[in-house]
Amino acid sequence: MFENLSERLSGVFDRLTKQGALSEDDVKTALREVRVALLEADVSLPVARDFVKAVQEKATGQAVTKSVTPGQQVVKIVHDELVHVLEGEGEPGELKVDNAPAPILMVGLQGGGKTTTTAKIAKRLKEKQGKRVLMASLDIYRPAAMQQLEVLGRQIGVDTLPIVEGQSALQIAKRAQQQATMGGYDVYMLDTAGRLQIDEKLMGEVEDVRNAVKPRETLLVVDGLTGQVAVEVAEEFDAKVGITGVVLTRMDGDGRGGAALSMRAVTGKPIKFVGLGEKMEALEEFRPEQIAGRILG
Ligand code: GDP
Repeated sequence: MFENLSERLSGVFDRLTKQGALSEDDVKTALREVRVALLEADVSLPVARDFVKAVQEKATGQAVTKSVTPGQQVVKIVHDELVHVLEGEGEPGELKVDNAPAPILMVGLQGGGKTTTTAKIAKRLKEKQGKRVLMASLDIYRPAAMQQLEVLGRQIGVDTLPIVEGQSALQIAKRAQQQATMGGYDVYMLDTAGRLQIDEKLMGEVEDVRNAVKPRETLLVVDGLTGQVAVEVAEEFDAKVGITGVVLTRMDGDGRGGAALSMRAVTGKPIKFVGLGEKMEALEEFRPEQIAGRILG
């Protein structure tokens, strides 16, 4: 499907080395290939441009001094730089869940995988950290979404807040907070309503809930296959409600993972997890090495 970047670069350098020593221009030619590969992997243009510039600075000096296998050398520099950009602070997959009950706010567009991811994270907190978790759906517009969370809760053995009709998202959030406090839960997760696109009403609602519960984590769940759109959604949510981390879903698909790079470069927020399927187990902590390998092809 995609031409392998490593091979492509070797080809470029083969041609170049026959003409003599590597110059800055030679590296530039190779980096043009890198840029194309990044764009093919769905990295946004400005991010790809900045990335190539950073690599160029590192590659120029090195390539001239050690030109044994220049192609591989540039690939390694590119790889290391990818990992560098992708890495966030803190341990991947680590969530702030001290000071019980710790609220986690889940935000994102409809269909991004928010409800599924809420349950996946709850299961993980329960099984890996022995946390008592309460989940609550704030999606007052779609009763089916509330029921979906309840069904998932039963499936993974995690409690959900009883559904009460006619309450606002804020009222439900406060009820969740109360129940979590009284019931001795360690964490309560609020699965907010998603829309097909960002609108003021949705943001206002999420803001009200955020102000009321003061979440320890606000996680944005976005479809990793949507590339540039995912990045725009992240920027918007971050500007309006302030996110603490990102979960990229559908990374089991055949996307090249470029959204991860753009996401990191543009928002500066850590990618905490990746979703790798519909099953409750299909959640992994984000590993920069893996995505770097995928982008390089
Ligand atoms: P929400 O509207 O954001 O709450 O999205 P849902 O959680 O209902 O997910 C929408 C669909 O995407 C469901 O069919 C999920 O099973 C599916 N889904 C969620 N995460 C993943 C993932 O990581 N990979 C795949 N392949 N499907 C996913």
